[in-house]
Amino acid sequence: MDTKKAGFNSKLIHAGGIEDALGSAVTPIYQTSTFRFKDADHGARCFSGEEKGYIYTRLGNPTIEDLENTLAELENGYGAVVTASGMAAVNTVYLAFLGAGSHMVSHNSVYGPSRGVMEKLYPNFGVESTYVDCTDPANIEKAIRSNSKLLYLETPANPTMGITDIAKAVEIAHQHGMLVCVDNTFCSPYIQKPLDLGADIVLHSMTKFINGHADIVGGCVVTRNKELYDKVAYVMKNVGFNMDPHQAWLTRRGLKTLSIRIERAQENARKVAAFLEKHPKIEWILYPGLESHPQYELAKKQMAGPGSMMSFGVKGGLKAGKTVMDNVHLALLAVSLGGIETLIQHPASMTHSKLSKEEREEAGITDGLVRLSVGIEDVEDIIADLDHALSLV
Ligand SMILES: *Cc1c(COP(=O)(O)O)cnc(C)c1O
Repeated sequence: MDTKKAGFNSKLIHAGGIEDALGSAVTPIYQTSTFRFKDADHGARCFSGEEKGYIYTRLGNPTIEDLENTLAELENGYGAVVTASGMAAVNTVYLAFLGAGSHMVSHNSVYGPSRGVMEKLYPNFGVESTYVDCTDPANIEKAIRSNSKLLYLETPANPTMGITDIAKAVEIAHQHGMLVCVDNTFCSPYIQKPLDLGADIVLHSMTKFINGHADIVGGCVVTRNKELYDKVAYVMKNVGFNMDPHQAWLTRRGLKTLSIRIERAQENARKVAAFLEKHPKIEWILYPGLESHPQYELAKKQMAGPGSMMSFGVKGGLKAGKTVMDNVHLALLAVSLGGIETLIQHPASMTHSKLSKEEREEAGITDGLVRLSVGIEDVEDIIADLDHALSLV
């Protein structure tokens, strides 16, 4: 079925399909490293691009292509590449669009390793970066230099839930000839479509909502046009960031239920947030679906829903936060997010521990901040679990 004009849910189920000689309903796992040519001329035509054919799995594979085509359609992009991990997707973008003498502007509380690798590894190759609070567009403008090439955003950002106005940030960056990439992991295309808001590139850790079942690690990059697609495809294929066919197949299967997973998790999250906001042991809570979120209006404008991620502070700081994490039974004490199971973690000692205390505080990641990814269990059980753990504080 041609799904180009179909709705989002129909795309989730039917997009990307690769025709299979035996007519299988689901694109099979082509677990092969290489493909046989019919004859020498056929091989030559595949290599020259004259004929579309599969050559070698790092360069292309039907199971992988099924997933890539689907992601491009869901994000309203030209094309997508999938990668072995979310960090491979982040590095694909860095390598494709930055080089010696160039500068990147980014948000100060992006995913820890996205910032870590830029500040520790890329200076070796002459790449500079500036991290500011991009939730205020004036800070973006101030950070831009004559050699700035890329604005790298993550919104809502991890784990402070700070929201950047994508359309406004794009306007500023484009005036300076910069490309804009948005890490859309926290939302998935069901909630936010950065390319529709003017961004050039969108990436995901598919480990999170896209696959949604906490059983693979993967990433993807989707671009607005062919020129950008060719650049990211070159990096993915030649650096060897490619995904394995089995991993791609599992991800494509997980992706089919994206809408219903997110709807349910979001419905649960709204109730959990309302419960936490009123709880006497909670000092503060940040959830884009609460009117108390400083960017509640922007969230409503830019996102189709508030999602299922939130962070909160327990009265009594780090010690109290630890008591909660050590006494939940249904929620798993684990990093990662966006799966069907509720996960709880502590960024200052876990995901953002590589940043210095000053860097964390500047980015709003206080020692008492607890991050919660609400799953699709019965919401009464999630609330009872948190209520019990909080009662021990
Ligand atoms: C997890 C995550 C990443 C990195 O993805 P991996 O699949 O773990 O390599 C990047 N960005 C965000 C926002 C994430 O949550």
